[in-house]
Amino acid sequence: MIARVTRRPRKKRIVILGGGFGGVYAAMYLEKLLARESAVEICLVSHDNFFLFTPMLHEIAASDLEITNIVNPLRKLLRKVEVFVGDVNQIDLQNKQVLISRGYRNHLQQLDYDHLVIALGSITNFYDLPGLAEQAITMKSLRDAIQLRAQIIRHLEEANSESDPAERRLSLTFVVAGGGFAGVETVAALNDFVREALPFYPNLCEDMLRVMLIHSGPTILPELGESLGRYAETVLARRGIEIRLKTRVKSVTESNVFLADGVSVPSRTLIWTAGIVPSPIISSLPCAKERGRLLVNQFLQVPEWPNV
Ligand SMILES: Cc1cc2nc3c(=O)[nH]c(=O)nc-3n(C[C@H](O)[C@H](O)[C@H](O)COP(=O)(O)OP(=O)(O)OC[C@H]3O[C@@H](n4cnc5c(N)ncnc54)[C@H](O)[C@@H]3O)c2cc1C
Repeated sequence: MIARVTRRPRKKRIVILGGGFGGVYAAMYLEKLLARESAVEICLVSHDNFFLFTPMLHEIAASDLEITNIVNPLRKLLRKVEVFVGDVNQIDLQNKQVLISRGYRNHLQQLDYDHLVIALGSITNFYDLPGLAEQAITMKSLRDAIQLRAQIIRHLEEANSESDPAERRLSLTFVVAGGGFAGVETVAALNDFVREALPFYPNLCEDMLRVMLIHSGPTILPELGESLGRYAETVLARRGIEIRLKTRVKSVTESNVFLADGVSVPSRTLIWTAGIVPSPIISSLPCAKERGRLLVNQFLQVPEWPNV
């Protein structure tokens, strides 16, 4: 059964989908802009009831910060916005409706809108590479960061009690794929974390450690331009990180990362930050797209659907 979320009488409803940077900042702006406008209600739908400051996610993985430092409850941030925690299942642009499912029992609810903001972000793309979906750790959610932290600590413990050097090497080799912000910040934080932890393990030393960044382009951090990218490479290399440019991960097994240039890296940890695709909800929308992303005008408006 689909329940309809009742509208307050004579109110225009703005529905925002996504509680990340795009959605939350749109909501905060509208909340302020429409503070004196009683004829408008704003609703925001998101998976979680908190806003996650993703640029600091790696600091959770590296034990530099506590979770509460990068998480902000949506209802505390957005006092005048009605927050719906649930999954967006479908957007019906024709009938101006969004179908959401909520709670453990997946209650279906229909949310009518007058204006819609789509800010659902992206999901990880594994490009169907063999072994990746099963073996790789992603770096997008709080759960990912916590899982990575636990895995690093587990591997340090394993390595410390391991007498076979090859096995120890497997546990102490960490590979990060993707030289964008997420990959570079993650590899740097991981590297600091393990190097600072090593002195506490009596059977481990720095020579046993291998931390590697794989990037398909000619320089890391392409968003920042070549000279800053090169500078970042120098700093990372000085800290002991091995950087391999112009190559890609081809496949991965439990104990090996295979690269397109023929190199194989014995490792039990691959962190994948090398691919994203727009939210799958977008793909079914009857709108023009470019590389799966919605095409918008200078006002971030979908030309065929001006209220979106
Ligand atoms: C580790 C890391 C470090 C980064 N560092 C930087 C940096 O230093 N500088 C920089 O500029 N960028 C950085 N980025 C990139 C930045 O985080 C993203 O560009 C930004 O988060 C995109 O914002 P968004 O609102 O489009 O999407 P998101 O932040 O991904 O938000 C999407 C929201 O929609 C919700 N959602 C998605 N699908 C559904 C659904 N079906 N139902 C309900 N809710 C849904 C999600 O839960 C989420 O709340 C980093 C990213 C990572 C992962």
